[in-house]
Amino acid sequence: MKFRDIYQQSRRPVLSIELFPPKTSKGRAHLDAELVRLMQYPVGFVSVTYGAGGAAQTNTLSLVRDIRQQYEVTTAPHFTCVGASRKSVRAYVDRAIAEGAENLVALRGDPPRGESAFRPAADGFTYAWQLVAFLKETYGDAISLAVAGYPEGHVETRDMALSIQHLKQKVDAGADLVITQLFYDNADFFRFRDMAVRAGVTVPIVPGILPITKYSQIDRITRLCGAKIPADLTKTLVAFPDGSSDQQMAGIAAAIDQAGELLDAGVPGIHIFTLNNSYATAHMVVALEHYFG
Ligand SMILES: Cc1cc2nc3c(=O)[nH]c(=O)nc-3n(C[C@H](O)[C@H](O)[C@H](O)COP(=O)(O)OP(=O)(O)OC[C@H]3O[C@@H](n4cnc5c(N)ncnc54)[C@H](O)[C@@H]3O)c2cc1C
Repeated sequence: MKFRDIYQQSRRPVLSIELFPPKTSKGRAHLDAELVRLMQYPVGFVSVTYGAGGAAQTNTLSLVRDIRQQYEVTTAPHFTCVGASRKSVRAYVDRAIAEGAENLVALRGDPPRGESAFRPAADGFTYAWQLVAFLKETYGDAISLAVAGYPEGHVETRDMALSIQHLKQKVDAGADLVITQLFYDNADFFRFRDMAVRAGVTVPIVPGILPITKYSQIDRITRLCGAKIPADLTKTLVAFPDGSSDQQMAGIAAAIDQAGELLDAGVPGIHIFTLNNSYATAHMVVALEHYFG
């Protein structure tokens, strides 16, 4: 099912989960076991991230194919413009469509480590909106596209008004869905959503939630992507040893509160960044079961 139909047809908020392609066979075995648990829940779609290079890229499509075949669930591979010419974009998307994909999360990607500015590949794209426009022109409605949104602004564009203009440009180019970067203060999301709606964004805007199960790890991720963990949440979490079960439970409780408030405010769904683990997601979904049905 395509993104636009999923959100249009669902009478309840849509639960979606994000995975990454494991780099080792041990990682894959772990993910396979976690998926058995995750797929017991009413998952609307599973998205799979796209790595910066090499095997990780083909692993995205293989994992997407395996999950679709095994669980008959809607899937969405991610794709970035990093190192991608128009020809390689077509090769990837042709393969995705041939293997049954109806959706794609279309991203620009980050500059390689150590570089501060994004440089497009020869015959490639500088911004995600150009990728979206190219995919619409090439594939029309054969594939439904999601793009990224940034409730706290993007690391390269902290000006929210400008960030919203860039989001609008991606949606106008043909995206059917916005999935946000992780955030921990719902006020940031509501402000972002209201600005996007005022700017004329009419597609669903789905908050991305990353439950904190190990503070040091998530603190590093938030710094990299320009998000913040509010001081009161930090205080609660660092009162426990890093990664301890006490800290996990506090992080999961906070994620349940955060998602509950968003669902009460009528968001079209919740996208959980699982980091390939079922534990936190399972706790969240069980606690919020009445929303998803
Ligand atoms: C839900 C989600 C999933 C993600 N999945 C992946 C993944 O699988 N793999 C991966 O490598 N990364 C992933 N990312 C991270 C993403 O690649 C980075 O955040 C990246 O830096 C920006 O990608 P984008 O698609 O938002 O780019 P863009 O929308 O192109 O934005 C990039 C920057 O350019 C600015 N900009 C946009 N348009 C213009 C314009 N016309 N003029 C001037 N400036 C402009 C934007 O404001 C922003 O600062 C994901 C992010 C999210 C939120």
